Amino acid sequence: MDFNVGDIVQMKKNHPCGGNEWEILRTGIDFRIKCIKCGHMVMLPRVKFEKGFKKFIEKKEQ
Ligand SMILES: [Zn+2]
Repeated sequence: MDFNVGDIVQMKKNHPCGGNEWEILRTGIDFRIKCIKCGHMVMLPRVKFEKGFKKFIEKKEQ
């Protein structure tokens, strides 16, 4: 799977705030994502991110 900074993704689990869209802020071994609804940022290992990933909402053009 090809993830890029700026992509908007949906995760399998909603954030406690009710939001389910996340913006990718950083890729690599660790991913940083931001809940679009509340702005909360989460850092997590790539493998964990890929497990929780559901689908792309918006793919940034290369
Ligand atoms: Zn949130």
